[in-house]
Amino acid sequence: MLQLITILNRCHHFQGFVYQQARFSADHKSIEITVRPRKGTRAICSRCHQPAPGYDQLTERHFEFIPFWGFLVFLLYTMRRVDCPRCHAVVVEQVPWCDGKHTLTKAYMLFLARWARRLSWKETAEAFRTSWEKVFDAVEHVVAYGLEHRSLGQIDAIGVDEIQYAKGHKYLTLVYQIDLGVTRLLWVGKERTIESFQGFFTAMGQEVIAKISFVCSDMWEPYLKLIRLHCSEALHILDRFHIVSNMNKALDQVRAEETGRMKREGRAPVLKKSRWLLLRHSENLGAEQHFRLRDLLRYNLKTVRAYLLKEAFQQLWEYDSPAWAGKFLDEWCRQTMRSRIEPMKKIARSLRTHRDLILNYFRAQKMLSSGVVEGLNNKAKVTMRKSYGFRTYRVLELALYHSLGKLPEPETTHDFF
Ligand SMILES: [Zn+2]
Repeated sequence: MLQLITILNRCHHFQGFVYQQARFSADHKSIEITVRPRKGTRAICSRCHQPAPGYDQLTERHFEFIPFWGFLVFLLYTMRRVDCPRCHAVVVEQVPWCDGKHTLTKAYMLFLARWARRLSWKETAEAFRTSWEKVFDAVEHVVAYGLEHRSLGQIDAIGVDEIQYAKGHKYLTLVYQIDLGVTRLLWVGKERTIESFQGFFTAMGQEVIAKISFVCSDMWEPYLKLIRLHCSEALHILDRFHIVSNMNKALDQVRAEETGRMKREGRAPVLKKSRWLLLRHSENLGAEQHFRLRDLLRYNLKTVRAYLLKEAFQQLWEYDSPAWAGKFLDEWCRQTMRSRIEPMKKIARSLRTHRDLILNYFRAQKMLSSGVVEGLNNKAKVTMRKSYGFRTYRVLELALYHSLGKLPEPETTHDFF
């Protein structure tokens, strides 16, 4: 077992400590490596991080290290307490391989956290014969380090997005940096209220906020309000992705209402199974779906007219000039207001109210691709599905920062891949 100690000294060596002995546990399922302080070195106070005179010893603790060839590996160490003259207290010593709160070593936490970005947390726990809670601890440790050590730098453009994470209007607010070249999640907030979104501006600080030139968001009033307040100099753009998705929601509502009404009136169920046909962009339909769509469009139904309005609206994004885009938008809203389809009229009214913010999309010369927010939104949804286990706000917050935050990782002297 001497070789094991040689390897450990090569990859996980700490000044002031010595690997003493490696042995199998009683059940032969794990390897235990005893660690002791190097003779003549003083323990470090965990409060002021300075060496301090010893006081006494606690009982031996097990620290879980990266498993090795099918064996769990533990470092066994008896923590000392110091009588610290600076802190005027008896304090447990600080050890470099662990942050004191956890039973996992820092190296193992980083190892697990990296895997938890590729696999679900449950799969990570299973693959390394550990528990979901320990994977949670690992991700929490790595994310906390990353948030503390990340540099915000100059942020030119942000996108504000909301995601429903549970039934009953449970939303998260996500703020992304969407600069050309740097896209990452900057902030996660619970709910989508003024109070919660205010947290973003507080967290970033006035200096960073003042330099933002572009803000993309949807038409949610609390977002609009705070963006006006804090980023008054920035060009505020209503996000194409959110406008399109609101329109899809309205169309879906029209279809559902009409399907119900037709059923009550005993009419042929021509709208049956039409949902995806209508919500999809017509360019993305296959040949047979196209045929069905054409068939459906022969009926003079509200759903059909709403669909045609939605499809016509797509043309807006092809304009280059804000003036012509504005003319098109006005005409579309005028037609829609005469359509007698209430959910679509509601959209038209809201587009009219926010006309200027929509045209800012063209004033920004389409510099910000709407695909960025949409892409990040999709990634966020995938992450939320993968972190499964316990779907609490804290879990989602950590999982989102971990996979989309591009956070710096704790530094290690060896890369445990
Ligand atoms: Zn101290």
